[in-house]
Amino acid sequence: MLSKVFDIKDHVIATLGSHCSLQVLKGAKDEGLATLLICEKKRASLYKRFNFIDELYFIDTFDDLLNNDIQNELIDKKILLIPHGTLISNLKFDELEKINIPIFGNKWILRWEADRVLKQKLMSESNFNIPSQINRKNEIKNLCIVKLHGAAGGKGYFLAWNEQSFDDGCKKLIDQKVIKSEKELYIQEYVLGVPIFLQFFYSPLKDEVELLGIDRRYESDIDGIGRIPSHIQIKLNLEPSYNVIGNFPLVLRESLLQEVFSMAENFAEKTKELVAPGIPGPFCLEGVYDKNGKFVIFEFSARIVAGTNLFINGSPYSDLLYNEPMSMGRRISREIKEAIKLNRLDDVIT
Ligand code: AMP
Repeated sequence: MLSKVFDIKDHVIATLGSHCSLQVLKGAKDEGLATLLICEKKRASLYKRFNFIDELYFIDTFDDLLNNDIQNELIDKKILLIPHGTLISNLKFDELEKINIPIFGNKWILRWEADRVLKQKLMSESNFNIPSQINRKNEIKNLCIVKLHGAAGGKGYFLAWNEQSFDDGCKKLIDQKVIKSEKELYIQEYVLGVPIFLQFFYSPLKDEVELLGIDRRYESDIDGIGRIPSHIQIKLNLEPSYNVIGNFPLVLRESLLQEVFSMAENFAEKTKELVAPGIPGPFCLEGVYDKNGKFVIFEFSARIVAGTNLFINGSPYSDLLYNEPMSMGRRISREIKEAIKLNRLDDVIT
């Protein structure tokens, strides 16, 4: 049987208009590929400004992606969909898995990102240092961070140091109708140190992990609370929130880099075992470096993260690998082009 022959001209790079879509489509255009943005009508005036977007495909809300007619229309347009945080925060993972549009990367691993139990399994099997998980609220002895399931950008997280403070935080979320019961919460040891986000790309074509950038998040209002003197903080009874507003670029001490690569390589290998075909494309390891330089990983993202938007023109790390500006978005399109050339597109999409 003759295998299918792929052609670059047969494909259009597409993504949802939000999160890192500008970077992704600019990168695709820099690689000479056609681009399409799936755009909510209310955001038309923003996205019309950018001439690297060849086509704006309007929908009312991102939920419309579940509509079969819309999916078929997009399939006819020969799109390859680049998933990002907005796709996974708007759709449930079983809905996402049923989408018929070819998705860049491994759509099955997005479930492992959204589900805390699966996430924990992948992280511990990758031999990461991970914060301990507290299963019952009466076991809270030290400072903990209480999280919601899914990618909510840190929204709704709160700190607890004993059962009472957990109950107080939980009640607030129930009153605000963010959750229905405490069963929706996940309690994790709070790791003291500095949060760092390591941005990688795994190429199945080269079987290689690349470090393309590092950032830290600027979160409201945890990053603002320190601007208020402590005696006033105490009076105001302030409760921090962790809503990501933006990102800062970062470089690590060079002596930490060797371990950075081995963690990422372990992860890429483990994903192949646990959730085939593994992790073709971008991923991010997210954690805290403690005072001894130990990296404790509290999360991973199994797709492009918005912190890569810092490096549209490349980062110090992408510069070491490429003699041209290489954003994560552009790297995705480079891989797709390469896969098409090698007739291996099936290795990078699901
Ligand atoms: P996440 O949504 O899990 O990426 O977390 C949002 C923010 O909460 C992070 O950027 C950190 O500032 C903070 N955070 C999450 N988990 C921990 C942890 N185990 N220890 C300390 N800080 C954390």
